[in-house]
Amino acid sequence: MSLLTQNLGFPRIGRNRELKKAVEGYWSGRITRPELLATATTLRRENWRLQKAAGIQLIPSNDFSFYDQMLDHICLLGCAPDRYLEKGRVVNLDGYFAMVRGGEIVTDSGTRHVHALEMTKWLDTNYHFLVPELAPDQDFGLASTKPFDEFREALSLGIVTKPVFLGPVSFLRLAKCQGEPFDKLSLLKRLLPVYVLILQELHKLGAKWVQLDEPILAMDMDIREKEAIMETYQTLAESAPDLSLMVCSYFGPYGANLPTVLKLPVKAVHLDLFRAEEELGRFLEGLAGNRILSLGVVEGRNIWKNDFSHSLGLIWKAAEKLGTKRLILSPSCSLLHAPLSLEAETALPDGIKSWLAFAEEKLGEVAALARLSETENFDADPEYLSNQKDIHHRRNHPGTAVKEVRERLDRVRPENGERKSPFLERQILQWKKLRLPLYPATTIGSFPQTEEVRKMRALWKKGRLSESEYRAFLEEETIKTVRLQEELGLDVLVHGEFERNDMVEFFGEKLKGFAFTSNGWVQSYGSRCVKPPVIHGDVYRGGPMTLDWTLFASRATDKPMKGMLTGPVTILKWSFVRDDQPLADTANQIALAIRDEVMDLEAAGVPVIQIDEPALREALPLRKSEWKACLDWEVSAFKLAASGVRDETQIHTHMCYCDFGEILEYIARMDADVISLEASRSRMELLEVFSEFRYPNEIGPGIWDIHSPQIPEAGEMAELLRRARTVIGSRNLWVNPDCGLKTRRWEEVIPALKNMVAAARMLRKED
Ligand code: GLN
Ligand code: ZN
Repeated sequence: MSLLTQNLGFPRIGRNRELKKAVEGYWSGRITRPELLATATTLRRENWRLQKAAGIQLIPSNDFSFYDQMLDHICLLGCAPDRYLEKGRVVNLDGYFAMVRGGEIVTDSGTRHVHALEMTKWLDTNYHFLVPELAPDQDFGLASTKPFDEFREALSLGIVTKPVFLGPVSFLRLAKCQGEPFDKLSLLKRLLPVYVLILQELHKLGAKWVQLDEPILAMDMDIREKEAIMETYQTLAESAPDLSLMVCSYFGPYGANLPTVLKLPVKAVHLDLFRAEEELGRFLEGLAGNRILSLGVVEGRNIWKNDFSHSLGLIWKAAEKLGTKRLILSPSCSLLHAPLSLEAETALPDGIKSWLAFAEEKLGEVAALARLSETENFDADPEYLSNQKDIHHRRNHPGTAVKEVRERLDRVRPENGERKSPFLERQILQWKKLRLPLYPATTIGSFPQTEEVRKMRALWKKGRLSESEYRAFLEEETIKTVRLQEELGLDVLVHGEFERNDMVEFFGEKLKGFAFTSNGWVQSYGSRCVKPPVIHGDVYRGGPMTLDWTLFASRATDKPMKGMLTGPVTILKWSFVRDDQPLADTANQIALAIRDEVMDLEAAGVPVIQIDEPALREALPLRKSEWKACLDWEVSAFKLAASGVRDETQIHTHMCYCDFGEILEYIARMDADVISLEASRSRMELLEVFSEFRYPNEIGPGIWDIHSPQIPEAGEMAELLRRARTVIGSRNLWVNPDCGLKTRRWEEVIPALKNMVAAARMLRKED
């Protein structure tokens, strides 16, 4: 009997994004409810069978979701906010979708309009969950049969699954308070009885294991939270004595919570070896009794093939101390964050494909490691040999270490990451050169990517539109947009980004060291999936990437044209990144490539260059104490990209979120001459932050919320500007929307920009 194997969660979107298509089809009325349910059943069955075939013993259930597992959990615990409920606590499928999309809810007493629950990123991933809203007197009650139905469904296939839930303490931590803040832990005593009911019901149905995810254990916890988690698991373990409970946390070390974890009265605990390998020793020393350690040996959220030699070393070390009966092999986290299968990747260069493992292949690795760890002559085993061959092939591949790139990075000196003069000196030179009015008006870069733009791009990609026809079309769109901006009275123009599909993919396709999968989709939220590029080798620029369109547009006008680039941090964070060198090195390589583009733009006479960094704040570590190290390299990479230029060249950056009070110090350190930010949705709350921290450079707090279809009035925007002026001052204030306009329609963009320029003019008159 070899080592026990498990999985913590599996992608539910299907091999060809069947779930997305079914859910969106249901929304638009193209498919019926029974058809949607049938698709879901098929997907779950395929997933369970696949996991079984891969050799996994503890296979999860309740990891399926029509939209989001947190939303399912809210419905299960009967704590959906009242506005979505008709009678009682139960949410039906349409109510469920109303919670994510907003919309009409039809009840006996009429129709009511509800807005959606808020969404936020799941821990440090790019997956978004729906945030539970809890009231101080919140009630809970078992209000769904989903986990039981799915358990039975798998049982009918002969698979005794391990149902998966978010644990109660993390659930409370990740929830938000409805109205005024209150002590969410006070709700625990009402919440636990529902978990007890769930466990008891699962036990009745024949479950042996239940997985409870407590990611809070990788965050900073206060003493009350630590006590709460001990009490929670005492209660749960006592009320379901015949069930084996497994507590899982991932994406960071346990740190100061480790003594608590070692004492939790549960059957098994999980360790993410990719984020906390250094804690293995303490688990082996400290895990007492007959408790089991789940070893997260296979990285669950990146795409690289596991190095069997390294993993076997860890497994043997653990087995020597605990014995094989007290170990379970596992991916490091749920595979929700990995693409489903390499099978469809026929277009990847073959060498690169052999370096990768997606969800399906990762499960194969877990099973192979279980077997190899107890194989006498493991190093003669074909599976081991083939794995090591691929690992060595990747390690020694010329593309993974390009001499010129390495040498150039070595030559980088601190002064390469600094502008030549301090901001105040640059500002004067830029004023002289650009001669902009007060409150200069600009946009964030993209203009509407209409149906037509996307259609033409698709035709061109399929070869059904010639290069010159496509070019002519783009030229026409660009010229139209330049003329429009002139007519509207904008001060710094953009070319409109019509040639770009996505702000990262566009650059990835042009840079060396990137590859693109054909089907490597990962759920981002609900029915939305993304297909991140793969950074597999050293990154450098083959040649100019944006020069032609920027110059084409700039020649069409006398106004200053802004060159538009995506920054190194955002390119890195929205990609699958190589794991064989520090992230900072990869970021700096990308930074040098962007720097080359910046220099080319400057040399060609482009006076203003914007380097977008919307992802700067994303994916920061779960513990604040670790943010500094991460933000330090992020800021350095940005500065390396931006700092080659002369003082009179104006560098802009853009970030699309408003809650960056905590990282303002780092944003200031980026030393961009101008930063544009999302602000209108928060009604400029961010200005409070700016009044406490004197941000030294120029700022354009967005005054038009482009995420809403509403067209803002000039007076409204002028009012926002006046408020901003009190904090930022008139000399440093820019006028712009809060993000790119690519998702908006021309019918909205034209009047809104007209009003925006009118608002700028109102303020100019006041000075
Ligand atoms: N320049 C990009 C655009 O305008 C910025 C997009 C973003 O902030 N996400 O679309
Ligand atoms: Zn934005």
